[in-house]
Amino acid sequence: MQIIEKFRDKNQIERIITKIQELVSRKWLIMEICGGQTHAIMQTGLQGLLPDEIELIHGPGCPVCVTSLELIDKAIAIASKENVIFTSYGDMLRVPGSETDLFSIRASGRDVRVVYSSIDAVKIAENNPEKEVVFFGIGFETTAPANGISVIKAKKNGIKNYSMLTSIVRVPPAMQAILESQENRVQGFLAAGHVCAVMGYHEYEPIVEKYQTPISVTGFEPLDIAWGIYSTVRMLEVGEIKVFNAYTRVVSRDGNIAAQQIIDQVYESCDRNWRGIGIIPESGWKLKPEYLDFDAEIRFKVGGIRTKESEICISGLILQGLKKPNQCPAFGNVCTPQNPLGATMVSSEGACAAYYRYTQH
Ligand code: SF4
Repeated sequence: MQIIEKFRDKNQIERIITKIQELVSRKWLIMEICGGQTHAIMQTGLQGLLPDEIELIHGPGCPVCVTSLELIDKAIAIASKENVIFTSYGDMLRVPGSETDLFSIRASGRDVRVVYSSIDAVKIAENNPEKEVVFFGIGFETTAPANGISVIKAKKNGIKNYSMLTSIVRVPPAMQAILESQENRVQGFLAAGHVCAVMGYHEYEPIVEKYQTPISVTGFEPLDIAWGIYSTVRMLEVGEIKVFNAYTRVVSRDGNIAAQQIIDQVYESCDRNWRGIGIIPESGWKLKPEYLDFDAEIRFKVGGIRTKESEICISGLILQGLKKPNQCPAFGNVCTPQNPLGATMVSSEGACAAYYRYTQH
């Protein structure tokens, strides 16, 4: 606890803010990639402490928010089947599909359970051999290894009634898509520290080189974020365009090799459809052929889904940093955490949920 308190020290944060004020000479737009960072920024009021020249914009790093509507509808279709126990992280239950959500499917009597890890789902499968147990395996690089372990374990132990509905997405292709957009406003990034803890930061170096946009690997405590912002502003001001590791207590250049080996064993690259954004080439992972027996999409043959997105929701623009939640006409009136129209209002990492929780809307 004492260690965490150190990274919330008000005096230290103010000292860094002062350094930013002394340094800044013009307007800079910096995107924090991760929704966890967005929530920390909103909770601490960090944007309000920064000089007017620094604008923080919120990125697509919320796994619940970017899981495609088609996959949510497939999850709902599988969870609606009679012999299925559908397991998922809690946030996913309230995410709106085209017609309904998993929470309503549970309320209608189907067996939809919240789990804290994919291994819990494997245990449920072991204890319920007469049922089909499905885990909704969504996430970024951070959750990929743990989800991958579940199919390795199921295969090794001959657990045939377990499968995973997989949607793993990757940060670097999303950053490139943002930088290549004609509407792009981002001049520097705060990369997500936990993703870099797994993958290292070497894969950001070609992005920096190609797009001449500096990246600071940044943690999640207020002091970490202030330090990441300072590092990015400094690189922009002096023209030193590189990847700076502002989270050295957790992240190394090469990352967690053991976790990467699990990823290599279980997944292969694929295009992914990001909700509200569209298809980003090579932006995700799917199960390798040797693990396709555990692929829920194949096992349940949930094809032919026709999706229908809310006409009001602008979460796609928010996830690309083109709009902010309070610019959505539905924010806080038609759309609330109790009655969400988009995933960004549901997730604990969603930008709309952060604005709703921490601002007077
Ligand atoms: S406030 Fe609601 S409707 Fe508007 S962008 Fe956010 S989730 Fe979508």
